[in-house]
Amino acid sequence: MNDCIFCKIIAGEIPSSKVYEDEEILIFKDIQPIAPIHLLCVAKEHFAYLSDLDEARATLLGRTLKKIGELKDSLGLGEGYRVVINQGENAGQTVHHLHLHLLGGTTLPWG
Ligand code: 5GP
Ligand code: ZN
Repeated sequence: MNDCIFCKIIAGEIPSSKVYEDEEILIFKDIQPIAPIHLLCVAKEHFAYLSDLDEARATLLGRTLKKIGELKDSLGLGEGYRVVINQGENAGQTVHHLHLHLLGGTTLPWG
């Protein structure tokens, strides 16, 4: 966990452009955006995969999704957005701290 870049961002040891923070989640700008708005949403608790969810973490993830819905306008995502979770090697997951990509600010291609 000590080597986790997102834990270091959460702890303030690595700078980031934070757009929302509360006691359990942090939302900040992706350093290499692939859409006009590209945010990362992380739980402050470190875990890497959906397969690491227990009941408490599943509830936290549900609250996180609810919060994103509540924040969509203030995040600039009111016209629509995509939520992406890359899991494992085939999906290209590079940071092994579960995170939600929030993509928006334009019409997003699909397929
Ligand atoms: P993954 O490929 O694991 O789903 O996504 C990891 C994301 O984290 C990538 O989009 C990458 O640009 C972003 N990222 C990696 N390192 C940093 C960093 O130090 N700061 C920020 N803000 N984003 C990062
Ligand atoms: Zn972490």
